[in-house]
Amino acid sequence: MKVFYRPEQVAASYQPSPSALKPRLVVADWLADPHINVEICSFEPASTKTLCLAHDPAFVRGIFSGRRENGFGNTNTDVALSLPFTNGSMVAAAEHAVLHGEVVCSPTSGFHHAGYASAMGYCTFNGLMVAALALKQAGLVDHVGIIDCDAHYGNGTDDIIMQRNINWIEHRTLGKHFNRSDDAEGGRFEAWLNKAIDHCRDCDLVLYQAGADPHVDDPLGGILTSVQMSWRDRTIFEQLGHLPLVWNLAGGYQVAPGETEAQKREPILALHRMTARLHTAIFG
Ligand SMILES: [Zn+2]
Repeated sequence: MKVFYRPEQVAASYQPSPSALKPRLVVADWLADPHINVEICSFEPASTKTLCLAHDPAFVRGIFSGRRENGFGNTNTDVALSLPFTNGSMVAAAEHAVLHGEVVCSPTSGFHHAGYASAMGYCTFNGLMVAALALKQAGLVDHVGIIDCDAHYGNGTDDIIMQRNINWIEHRTLGKHFNRSDDAEGGRFEAWLNKAIDHCRDCDLVLYQAGADPHVDDPLGGILTSVQMSWRDRTIFEQLGHLPLVWNLAGGYQVAPGETEAQKREPILALHRMTARLHTAIFG
C-alpha cells in the first residue's frame, strides 16, 4: 500500500480537531501492524498556483499571510505551512494512481468544507478539488469521481464545482443524505452507495473519503454500524478498485480513555486500520 506521507503535513501546534494529528498517528499505527504492507512515498508540496486552481487567489494569499482565518478559526503560521503538504499528498497520490493504474492512500483530512473563497469546519483548502483540477489541467483525466463517505456534507466541494462551473466531476456526499443511524437503516445506505459507485464506473480517477466519523459511536457522526463501515470499504474497493483510486482519512472524533494520543484515538485508528488492512489484503 503506497502512502503519500511527509511529516510536514502535520501542524506543530495543537488544533481543535484531532483529525489534524491523524496522518502521523495512522502512519505509525500501520507501520507497526504486520497485516498492513506500507510503502511511504514522498512528494512535493502543492504550489500556490496549484491551490489557486480550486480557490480564489486572494483567499489563498490571505491564508498564507495570516490575514484570513484557516478552517480551525485561527491564523497560526504552522497550520498554513502544513496545507501545501496535505494538498500535495492528495495531488501526488492522484497522479500516481492515474499514471500507474493503482489504488493508493493519502493520509489526509480537512478538505471538503473548504469552498472557493472560504474556510470552515477544520477545512482550509479543498485537496479533493485541488487534485481533480491539477490532474485535469495536466491532461491526465477527463472525468473524476468523488465519493465522500465522511459523515458531513461536502459543501465546500459543491461550492467550488458551482463557482468554477465544472461538469466533469461526479460528486456523491453521504452527509447530504444521512444524518442519523435511522436514515441509513433498511438498506438505504447500501442503495445510496451502490448508486454512487455506478455513477463513477466511467471515471478516470476516483477520490474516496473513507471517513471514520460516520461510525455510530462517533460524537459528530453516528450514522453507520461497524458492519456497514466495513461493507462500505469492501464494496468500494471491490467495485472500483480496477480504476485509479485514492482514499483518504477525512473526519473522526471518538475519544477513548488513555495517556498517549494514540491511546486516546484508538477507536479512530481502529477504523482506519480496518481500511488499510483491507487495502493490503486486496491490492497488496
Ligand atoms: Zn466529518
